[in-house]
Amino acid sequence: MRSPKYDVVIVGAGIAGIAAGHALINAGAGRVALIERDAPLSLTSDKSTECYRNFWPGPDSAMAALMNRSIDMLQQLCDQSANRFQLHQRGYLFATARSQEIEELQQQALDNERYGGGPLRYHGPTAHRTTYRASPTQGYDATLDGADLITDKKLIEHHFPYLTGDTIGVLHARRCGVLSAQQLGMYLLEEARGNGLDLITADFSALHQSGGRVSSVEIRTADGVVELETDAVVLSSGPHLKSTAALAGTLLPVVVEKHVKISLADKLGVLPREAPLIVWNDPTNLTWSAEDLEVLTDSAETRFLTETFPAGVHGRPVGAGDQVFLYWTYDCEVTDAPVFPIESDPYYPEILLRGMARMVPGLAAYLDPMPRPYIDGGYYTKVADNRPLIGALDVPGTYVCSAFSGYGIMASCAGGELLADHLLGRDLPSYADAFNPGRLIDTAYLKKMAGLSVSGQI
Ligand SMILES: Cc1cc2nc3c(=O)[nH]c(=O)nc-3n(C[C@H](O)[C@H](O)[C@H](O)COP(=O)(O)OP(=O)(O)OC[C@H]3O[C@@H](n4cnc5c(N)ncnc54)[C@H](O)[C@@H]3O)c2cc1C
Repeated sequence: MRSPKYDVVIVGAGIAGIAAGHALINAGAGRVALIERDAPLSLTSDKSTECYRNFWPGPDSAMAALMNRSIDMLQQLCDQSANRFQLHQRGYLFATARSQEIEELQQQALDNERYGGGPLRYHGPTAHRTTYRASPTQGYDATLDGADLITDKKLIEHHFPYLTGDTIGVLHARRCGVLSAQQLGMYLLEEARGNGLDLITADFSALHQSGGRVSSVEIRTADGVVELETDAVVLSSGPHLKSTAALAGTLLPVVVEKHVKISLADKLGVLPREAPLIVWNDPTNLTWSAEDLEVLTDSAETRFLTETFPAGVHGRPVGAGDQVFLYWTYDCEVTDAPVFPIESDPYYPEILLRGMARMVPGLAAYLDPMPRPYIDGGYYTKVADNRPLIGALDVPGTYVCSAFSGYGIMASCAGGELLADHLLGRDLPSYADAFNPGRLIDTAYLKKMAGLSVSGQI
């Protein structure tokens, strides 16, 4: 069966495909179809911790510039929709009990300033009057940018009383916060559909070429196989990018990395609802009773629980109720293709809670007995430099807007806009080259990035 011609066919209605569709429709790209085999936003885009930040490492300003543009667009959408997707600019708070880590945080904030993430401000114990401003509890404050490094313990205790008493410094990155990814995605999808986007439930199964360029795609619907004539195909297939790119004639060096998070009911209100995303920046030893320690050390299966875990356990309150997200990316399995359903280490929830209790001791109240957590997760889709793929692929007429790793919610708006720029031949922003798939065959570039260890992953 053949259907009328589409100007663009997008594969995948996660946040990346939806944002690309929204941008294309708004830019007047003509008839656009969005192909999704499942419910929109249901594979990876509803599994995130739903945070955003313009706080990014180098080695250049590309990631910070992409995120700044995306946050500008999120703020516009926030105004236009009466904040339907609950964007709240509460910041990311990196905390430490080690003086050498304060220097590290300072360096990161200075780098971030250099890359366009806004100025670093200091709030040390000798300051007479502090200029530190608390975050808005709702919505955003367009004047808050950069980062505040606070080493005045009184100020830390005043604003973040739930942190452990041995915290000696915090870095509060300010153009950062939280939002509802599901609501953002649905808002963009409804708008795009209202303006003519066709959402089609189907499996993308083949791409056909004529005269050396895309001529049609084959999709499998509940009613059978359909061929959609089109000049342009955009792959936004999330963790299935590698296999869909192969169907579209391009081999992409993409891997997927498993990430699991939990949420728990904070019935005692240990973490205030307006708390920022809090990250413990020190390596952590989990606290056990002497009896537990002996048992755990005795068994080869559990000994790792008594060893030091890397820095980075983090969490935040989520939604209007009493849930908190807890997340720690210390052990993420990397594979070529995703496996569903996601399975996770049975010890993970307790490791997370004990890790978070190092930073927020009040959470230890939930250890015995530990309430049943809600566990979910998905895959980060990545290439070696941990930057997205946005631009044209090998076969003329094929494009990619994907590989958004652990930042696809925050980057999707600017990512979709950049994809539309490429596809419609508009002027490209300064950061376009940094995300062009062509960089993956530039060995000098890949060597340079491999030596830098600046993935930006938290
Ligand atoms: C635990 C976790 C925490 C995270 N935290 C954050 C965060 O705080 N902030 C942030 O910005 N990001 C975060 N992320 C990352 C973010 O969730 C992802 O980058 C983003 O959701 C990727 O969106 P996507 O549209 O590329 O992929 P997906 O959401 O996976 O969408 C791809 C879609 O393509 C469809 N598809 C694939 N192949 C086909 C086919 N052949 N035919 C039809 N349909 C197909 C799939 O069904 C799917 O719906 C997190 C991710 C995880 C797992």
